[in-house]
Amino acid sequence: MNNETLFAEATRYIPGGVNSPVRSFNGVGGTPFFTKRASGCHLYDSDEKQYIDYVSSWGANIVGHAHPQVVERVTAALACGFSYGTPTELELELARKVCQMMPSIEKLRLVSSGTEAVMSALRVARAYTQRNYIIKFNGCYHGHSDSLLVKAGSGLHALGQASSAGIPQEAVEHTLILEYNDIAGLRAAFIKYPIAAVLVEPYAGNMNLVRGSTEFIYALRDLCNEFKSVLIFDEVMTGFRVARGGAQELLRVSPDLTTLGKVIGGGMPLAAFGGKREIMDKLAPLGNVYQAGTLSGNPIAVTAGLANLELISEPFFYQNLSAYNAKLTSGLTELALSAGVPFSADYVGGMFGLYFREQIPVNLAQVKELDELRFKKFFHAMLNLGVFWAPSLFEAGFICAAHNQEALEQTLERAATVFKTL
Ligand code: PLP
Repeated sequence: MNNETLFAEATRYIPGGVNSPVRSFNGVGGTPFFTKRASGCHLYDSDEKQYIDYVSSWGANIVGHAHPQVVERVTAALACGFSYGTPTELELELARKVCQMMPSIEKLRLVSSGTEAVMSALRVARAYTQRNYIIKFNGCYHGHSDSLLVKAGSGLHALGQASSAGIPQEAVEHTLILEYNDIAGLRAAFIKYPIAAVLVEPYAGNMNLVRGSTEFIYALRDLCNEFKSVLIFDEVMTGFRVARGGAQELLRVSPDLTTLGKVIGGGMPLAAFGGKREIMDKLAPLGNVYQAGTLSGNPIAVTAGLANLELISEPFFYQNLSAYNAKLTSGLTELALSAGVPFSADYVGGMFGLYFREQIPVNLAQVKELDELRFKKFFHAMLNLGVFWAPSLFEAGFICAAHNQEALEQTLERAATVFKTL
């Protein structure tokens, strides 16, 4: 069956034909392709059409799809059973490794999705501070738990409004929404409300790529120290993606808690949250904060995660990702500008942002100024030529270690043709 037939059939049984909304191509129109297999930096659809993949499973794939070393380890693990419901040596090994790679994490707990990691980190932060208010920033995404599906209300420091139906207002009444990179707004909120925790994507990747400025990140750390609030870095996307030690390594800031997902499982359902011992020890069975999971620390997922963490620890891993991203983003910018298309681009380690706008955006309002029409044309023309970017203006791009010179040249050649038509 081709992509169109599969999608039509899928919409009969799956709401919108997809298991996560952005996959439906709602942001760009048209029909999504159905992936049959993936290898290295390529996806292959139901018609065996090959795509250079810049979505990388929304950031989870960093070593290359179906990396032989990961496949070998996972295959061996499968023969030992899929889930035990007891502690394993593997999860101890993973926890130890993560603590070594991210020194702000003294203890961590494994869960199965980023949503679960953030939801649990918030719960323990609220219990630790015995406060309820949390700060979140406009344009950051932290999974789909009730208290975090919030958009900015009207007026300065207004409490948020639920951004999805089915969420009672009471569930978001302690969620404050502030502008990303706005230090003055932040201080005012701390003065007005008793804040349990500040949740931030240190490099935001859910409103395209937007960097938290150094001043902003330092202000977060200072204010959380001053008001004894918990600083939570949501590194579900940036953890092991922008550097071996995540955004916190690059920014040289130690959060109190960190949430991880995506790369930690290398494509398997694995995520984690962790941080200061005195906060994490509030969790049951030691403390009175309940958190649990039948499949938490699943041995197959943990095996894949360990294999990934070993591969990313090889020398020059991040230098190579950065080198590719530098050439990709500067190449695209040059081609766009010479075709007269307003364009800019940015990257950090293995993630990048493309902006149909002259300047790199610093907050959601500026991302909303991107030229959506041009982006949609660019997206579809590139897809046609076998290059897959995230099907939305509001998503970052991701590369993996398998993106090589050939993929780079093919991408730039195809983009050169496309920019001339925009
Ligand atoms: N936090 C961030 C920063 C994310 O980017 C995401 C997902 O994209 C999540 C949390 C939620 O993770 P998951 O989709 O695994 O529930």
